[in-house]
Amino acid sequence: MPPAADSPFALVAVGRPVRGEFTYAVPEALRGTLAPGLRVRIPFGKATALGFYLAPADAPAPDVVKKLKPIEQALDDAPALPAEVVELVRFAAAHYRYPLGEALRAALPPGLSKADEGREAKADVVRFAAVTPSAELSVLTRAPAQHAALSYLLAVGGRADVEEVARAIPGARELLRKLEERGFVGFDEQEVLPGIAEGLGQARPETLTPEQADAVAALSQALDAGGFSSFLLHGVTGSGKTEVYLRLVERALEQGKGALILVPEIALTPQLVGRFRSRFGQAVAVLHSALKDRERLLAWQQLRRGEVKIAVGVRSAIFAPVKDLGVVVVDEEHDPSFKQEEKLRYQARDLAVVRARQAGALVILGSATPSFESFENARRGRYRLLTLSRRVDDRPMPELGLVDLRVERPRQPEGKTEEPPVLSPTLREAIAQTLEKKQQVILFLNRRGHATFLVCEVCGHPLKCPDCDVCLTHHLSARRLQCHYCGRADPVPESCPECHGTLLRLGVGTERIEAEVAAAFPHARVARLDRDAATSAEKLTQLLAGFARREIDVLVGTQMVAKGHDFPGVTLVCVVLADSALALPDFRAAERTFHLLTQVAGRAGRGKDAGRVLVQSYNPQAAPIAFMLAGDFQGFSEAELKRRRALNWPPYSRMAVLRIEGSSPELTARAAQRLANVMAIALPHVSRGVRLLGPAPAPITRIKGKTRWQVVVKGPTHTDLCGPLDAAEKLLASLPSSVKVVIDVDPSAML
Ligand code: ADP
Ligand code: ZN
Repeated sequence: MPPAADSPFALVAVGRPVRGEFTYAVPEALRGTLAPGLRVRIPFGKATALGFYLAPADAPAPDVVKKLKPIEQALDDAPALPAEVVELVRFAAAHYRYPLGEALRAALPPGLSKADEGREAKADVVRFAAVTPSAELSVLTRAPAQHAALSYLLAVGGRADVEEVARAIPGARELLRKLEERGFVGFDEQEVLPGIAEGLGQARPETLTPEQADAVAALSQALDAGGFSSFLLHGVTGSGKTEVYLRLVERALEQGKGALILVPEIALTPQLVGRFRSRFGQAVAVLHSALKDRERLLAWQQLRRGEVKIAVGVRSAIFAPVKDLGVVVVDEEHDPSFKQEEKLRYQARDLAVVRARQAGALVILGSATPSFESFENARRGRYRLLTLSRRVDDRPMPELGLVDLRVERPRQPEGKTEEPPVLSPTLREAIAQTLEKKQQVILFLNRRGHATFLVCEVCGHPLKCPDCDVCLTHHLSARRLQCHYCGRADPVPESCPECHGTLLRLGVGTERIEAEVAAAFPHARVARLDRDAATSAEKLTQLLAGFARREIDVLVGTQMVAKGHDFPGVTLVCVVLADSALALPDFRAAERTFHLLTQVAGRAGRGKDAGRVLVQSYNPQAAPIAFMLAGDFQGFSEAELKRRRALNWPPYSRMAVLRIEGSSPELTARAAQRLANVMAIALPHVSRGVRLLGPAPAPITRIKGKTRWQVVVKGPTHTDLCGPLDAAEKLLASLPSSVKVVIDVDPSAML
């Protein structure tokens, strides 16, 4: 029999990086009042910690009972996280092998994630709760500090900023909270919703394209029927996927349901946010990484109370407390940013499907280039496939052209530069023509900086970071050699540090292209969009807005220019070097290349003028490049899936990677070996095709001076991985403390 709800014992998850659930005693006063997910204050070790009540527990053995510590306090009347989110976090913590308490804490907005934090948010404005405040002052004569706070409030007219009261009266926050508990004052929140992307909206189109209409009809039917259903919306770039989402969200709202929309990066998708804002106004909470803690908390509370029914956010918004969830959308579902690469290493796209299933909601995964995981799920009938094969208004897809760099070498322009140019005559000609027509150009290259690396002409040594096993990147404007892994930035040496030979600059980066374009087209307004240029959300928004207003003619950038932007003035998109991402030691390198090229190509010709895409490559016969140039997603998928199946890579297998890192090369290697050993013993029947790879040095063997190893386990289903992972987890506690082990389940990148 399960323990009764008012059991004197409770299972608690501790908000610390410790694995497992802990039993605590429940004091008399709290019995029967605890609900799953409720924040509690608990003694833990020698300190107090934030904990989460999970469930009533059976009575432990008598000698254990004597040692049990009691829950000190319940921090809320009702759980801060809704039951549905608690459920989702429990799934995620188990699946991604992360301590549950830490995971629950991470799902809370800042301000609720610590034990010493107040019961409710610190609100902006405090006001009298009663109509006859002066009468109440007499009640407080025996609490002089509270009396003083209330008197102050009375003196300033019964309403004041909490900040202001806090400056005037020491300890005011605590006093005001007590006064609130006694019902004397109340808090109001000031509207601080971010003004991001206001005005970027568009009018609601009166008619849908026939394909949009079909998609909306199928989705509406599923929504009306209620219950869980999942769809993959495969729509070419510019086919109007966003409008499909908007229609479904409209319908959900009409039915009193809420909606959750996940996007890769808010700052890079101001238009999508703008469309939601202009369609739904203040009914949308925007959750992005640049939010201040207070803003995030406010948005979170509004969702929790059901005052706001729609959340648009980045991956962490998967835990947003949207009420009565009806629709979950993941836009650009193939985007790598949905995978969190630290702490709880979740894949938000996958959790979106889990959450929708738990909530009995509709989930739509949308993309022009679906991930192979989703594509395969659609092929197997787990997701229903909806296709938008044409652009809105039958605008043509851009014309795709190749510049084969083996045949057409970029020529030295007039005047001399020390480096070989990277823009071929064809590219220059196309740019010139486009500028002449007063249209805009995007130049894409997946590398920042000036020259990718420096190589000694004599000894052939590339200059590498001494702490990381990667080449240093030359940043011209900063006159530095920078490591993109550890951030170290050294002055550029005159000659090879080993043999004093002359240093050659090889490879290209966005910074160098920007310089070359500016030199070749002195009258063009050229700007650069990458992480070096867009150092803040403001700068990024400014750059994108400037490009949208056509104050910039040529935008040079990394994958930041490839996202879902809708700039009607862009008629030429150039891929400066398509090969750059292909050589990465990652089984997804081809998929990533194809996605990126297709996405960036999709920025061309979205307005009334037709678009053109030029791709420069030394390797045009490589599958992702050849299929991309043919505009053949289907063909690429079939070829790539065949390769994946032959090699047993996802989506035909499930994987987990253990990353082992430490300052001592010997201890780290030994730890990796021990982990591999215990995992090997725990492997299920070999005939089931579960394989252990490693221990092996990681593809980048050193980062920030730490040695890196990895062990990979691969099997037909997730369950097949559990035995080996359990065994590895058990061993963790006995490894040297200098060795850090990260378990990455369903990893996104293999580096
Ligand atoms: P996608 O996300 O598929 O690349 P968007 O949703 O950005 O495409 O749509 C491309 C453009 O077409 C946008 O400017 C959008 O406002 C417009 N659009 C979408 N649907 C319609 C429609 N039914 N009628 C007219 N314009 C539309
Ligand atoms: Zn480094």
